[in-house]
Amino acid sequence: MSEAPSPSPPPTPRLVTTAAELRAAVRAARAAGCAVGLVPTMGALHEGHLSLARASRSECGFTVATIFVNPTQFAPHEDFEKYPRTLQTDLESLASCRADLVFAPRREDMYPAGCSTLVEPPQVARRWEGECRPGHFRGVATVVLKLFNLAQADVAFFGQKDYQQAAVIRRMVQDLDVPTEIRVCPTVREPDGLAMSSRNRYLNAVERQQAVAISRALRWAEQMAADGERQAVKLVDSIHRVLAQAQIHRIDYVAVVDPETLEPIPELTGPVMVLIAVWVGGTRLIDNWRIEGMAGR
Ligand code: AMP
Repeated sequence: MSEAPSPSPPPTPRLVTTAAELRAAVRAARAAGCAVGLVPTMGALHEGHLSLARASRSECGFTVATIFVNPTQFAPHEDFEKYPRTLQTDLESLASCRADLVFAPRREDMYPAGCSTLVEPPQVARRWEGECRPGHFRGVATVVLKLFNLAQADVAFFGQKDYQQAAVIRRMVQDLDVPTEIRVCPTVREPDGLAMSSRNRYLNAVERQQAVAISRALRWAEQMAADGERQAVKLVDSIHRVLAQAQIHRIDYVAVVDPETLEPIPELTGPVMVLIAVWVGGTRLIDNWRIEGMAGR
């Protein structure tokens, strides 16, 4: 009996590294009548990234994923050098979700000598990540605007995992009249609740177990709110307790905020976001959770 032929793997997307190649490919896709979707990433792809590529694929005829570890969003003491770079497996992953093009520019092409213009991020960048990582959102806004200008995408896809980043980009697009629509897709989690992140691979086995407490704490806060707790400070305290039980003691922030402005909310009268950034060993992890308002309670 002859064996059924195994299905051939999906073709790897075309890899380009220069602005000219990217622009030409996008022009051709447009001429063929395709809407262009953009998925900006720093690589080391996981299911969270791939969910964005799939969302783009389902909405747009031509999907461009970008892979660029952007130096301007890392402070000198941060993990730019050790950030995982896994281009070959990233290409295979993107093939599996049928991305059309991968743009992986070289640093010197994105920031040639003399390049010195930076985007001043909007007000929503001020607190939280903005305070803990000075200059981070300036680097993010600058590189994202450059990618928008290069790809001329109709739609760009971001993850809720980086909630403040998505808010910064939405506001930047509005303020600077960028003709790209922004979609924010849900956070993809491991089965035990840990938000997927390229940085999770830094965690050793013990830290990986500890890290589960982050989403557990967020869910606990949601349950407290569902049970009627209205004081943000009580939610924050209980999150700190859950983290402490898991030996997570280095906490950059735990905040209950307005979903739009990201300003702190002392009392829950409508939907809020809980934002969290902690260190597990030497790894900084962020997560967030939306708590819906309890109408009529
Ligand atoms: P990064 O490579 O970390 O810059 O992330 C690239 C994009 O993937 C950003 O829009 C992130 O918000 C998004 N992303 C990262 N992790 C996740 C996740 N677990 N679920 C959904 N989106 C994610």
